[in-house]
Amino acid sequence: MMSNDFTSRQQETIRLQATDRPLPDIQLRGLPLFESGWVWLVGAGPGDPGLLTIHAVNALQQADAVVYDALVSEDILNLMRDDAEQIYAGKRGGRSSWDQSDIIEQLIVLAKAGKRVLRLKGGDPFVFGRGGEEAEALMAQHIPIRVIPGISAGVGGLAYAGIPVTHRDVNHAVTFVTGHLAGREGVEKMDWNAIAAGSPVIVIYMALSKISEIARLLLAAGRPSTEPVAVVTHATMPHQRVLIGSLGSIAGEVARAQLEPPSIIVIGQVARLHDIIGWFPADPVTSD
Ligand code: SAH
Repeated sequence: MMSNDFTSRQQETIRLQATDRPLPDIQLRGLPLFESGWVWLVGAGPGDPGLLTIHAVNALQQADAVVYDALVSEDILNLMRDDAEQIYAGKRGGRSSWDQSDIIEQLIVLAKAGKRVLRLKGGDPFVFGRGGEEAEALMAQHIPIRVIPGISAGVGGLAYAGIPVTHRDVNHAVTFVTGHLAGREGVEKMDWNAIAAGSPVIVIYMALSKISEIARLLLAAGRPSTEPVAVVTHATMPHQRVLIGSLGSIAGEVARAQLEPPSIIVIGQVARLHDIIGWFPADPVTSD
């Protein structure tokens, strides 16, 4: 993997570009004005600040207050005005210090105080991000909103691992699944027979700690134990890691490799493509 001359030259180029450089000065007409009392729900992408949209940068530069989640990087927060208020609403030590109703309440209070409120979430705000719930609650309070989509980890994060979520001859459909259900429900509550039969490629968010149970459920639902699986941690970040295994072996390999979340997991033949088109610098992971 990644050993030929071409790939090492390419990696060197990416490293050279990764040094501090100011944002390109992009002159675009018609970017929206962030008005007071509005809440903008913004996707920050999977981590690499270069994956922010121009709308997201425009929002960061105007907001008075940001309420942000755990997976939003400091480099991204640094794009805000120095006098903007930064409010962390994520988890500490694995436990949520705020529940969803506290976050919604905070957004409402800030908006009603006339602030320009930026609700910043990792990836896309409407993909396993509870952005829809927040939008509903704000609308119910007649607070005007704008939604700025972001690059979701399950698509863009995999692209940084050289894994296309669709690939001709492999899949005409893809299923996105969460490994984390509301309340105390476990993953076994989902219909794994339907998921297994539904599409050749399954992308699972929030699943690292549940990988052995998920693999067992998919095997029981008839997916072959030789089927390739990729686990991508810290996708798009300099410390991105990619572990390739099979449905039969992945749980043991994940445990041995001591991977750290966040991770995105993809099951299906597309995972093999990492060995061919993996392009982003990553520490190779060995499981022994
Ligand atoms: N709204 C986000 C998902 C939020 S749920 C999105 O669209 O991407 C949080 C989960 O997203 C994590 O548990 C992990 O599964 C995934 N995730 C987010 N950022 C990631 C990253 N940089 N690398 C790997 N997985 C990531």
